[in-house]
Amino acid sequence: MGIIRNLTAKLILIRQSKVIKNQKIIMSRRLHARRTDGVDKNVWVEFTQLAADYKAVNLGQGFPDFSPPQFIQDAFCKAVSGGPQMHQYTRAFGHPPLVKSLAKFFSRIVGHEIDPFEDILVTVGAYQALFCAFQALIDEGDEVIIVEPFFDCYQPMVIMTGGKAVYVPLRPREGSDILSSADWVLSAEELAGKITPRTKAIVINTPNNPLGKVYKTEELQMIADLCIKHDLLCISDEVYEWLTYDGAKHVKIASLPGMWERTITIGSAGKTFSATGWKVGWAISSGHIVKHMKTIHQNSVYHCPTAAQEAVAHGFEREYELFGSSESYFQQLPAMLHHKRKKLASCLQSVGLQPIMPQGGYFMVTDISSIKVDLSDQSTKDEPHDFKFVKWLVKEKGLATIPVSAFYSPEHSREFDKYIRFCFVKEDSTLDAAEEILKKWSQGK
Ligand code: PMP
Ligand code: GLN
Repeated sequence: MGIIRNLTAKLILIRQSKVIKNQKIIMSRRLHARRTDGVDKNVWVEFTQLAADYKAVNLGQGFPDFSPPQFIQDAFCKAVSGGPQMHQYTRAFGHPPLVKSLAKFFSRIVGHEIDPFEDILVTVGAYQALFCAFQALIDEGDEVIIVEPFFDCYQPMVIMTGGKAVYVPLRPREGSDILSSADWVLSAEELAGKITPRTKAIVINTPNNPLGKVYKTEELQMIADLCIKHDLLCISDEVYEWLTYDGAKHVKIASLPGMWERTITIGSAGKTFSATGWKVGWAISSGHIVKHMKTIHQNSVYHCPTAAQEAVAHGFEREYELFGSSESYFQQLPAMLHHKRKKLASCLQSVGLQPIMPQGGYFMVTDISSIKVDLSDQSTKDEPHDFKFVKWLVKEKGLATIPVSAFYSPEHSREFDKYIRFCFVKEDSTLDAAEEILKKWSQGK
């Protein structure tokens, strides 16, 4: 057996080296397109693989390790056995039952009559909605203001348009203990100072990943005023819109006066119904904006999976009926996560770490500067401290987390490399396993 396996491995190697040689001969000029330069590194590719390699307790990548609610699983099963059309293409810009239920649901929240066929684009997760927005709306030389820390893909997506990403950081309030994500604030002066005649859009994310900040109406109004004054678009990533805690209230910037016409609101069924693998997302905006996003969509992905859209449509119909009641999943999920968030916070506190309490979302950030470990083995590269620390934690302790400097621009990442991010949207048993690792470590075992 061993000999055969060795021989097979050798044959594969010989074949691969031939392919590589052939490619070199065929492509005597540069193989890759320039737009892939500088955007090849990806924190999820690196750290999700590392967590798998070390079979770590995974509080890294943000996904629930529990099942979606029964009603949405049933809706999916029903869709799959719902006849031949459920297995074929549907409308390119969104399955009609889904765009209708999204329009009905969100018209009530935005306070604007949303046209299901003009104002909505269904996409392969929120990722593709973001991609379509940047591709459709940002030209070479345009500037896009991104509030830091930001979900990492905004930056490469802007770069791939030929536009320029300009950063403005949320800063910890000075002179007080940073206990909550609400203590991270955006300076109106600093934001206004970044606007130039080339600025096309401001990107915000509320509730924010990784900090969990939920923007207050006054903060959104300040951003809205600048968008209106300077005629800017606002790309508002609201994938965690139902997940707020301790009375924080999610407000849609599109619902503020004068903002519907210039805001692209991005959502995700993955986060909404705890089914991240379904990859159903959407963008909602005025038809005059969505039509350009449709152009990108029709020339790239074209259709999204029919059965998953059918199931998500059922989910929204159900939530429309139950809205505000205790049976609504949009009430039940944050209630469940509120408990998990507390559990993780007390675990971190018990080992001497001070978490920044998130007002919303999936994640909790903590300062690691008090932890002294020898990281000299972790990398020969000149990596930020948090990258080295997270690698050490996976390899030496079997616990996966995410370095927070990955959510900053290269210009600012060193300033913020003393934080790591934990995902708490996990089974209690997963959180218990993480607690055990941290406790043993703090006891020197
Ligand atoms: N935006 C934010 C802030 C996210 O955290 C994520 C990760 N889910 C996405 C967008 C992408 O969402 P999806 O999985 O629906 O593509
Ligand atoms: N949004 C999730 C997170 O922040 C997943 C990201 C991803 O898989 N690219 O962890």
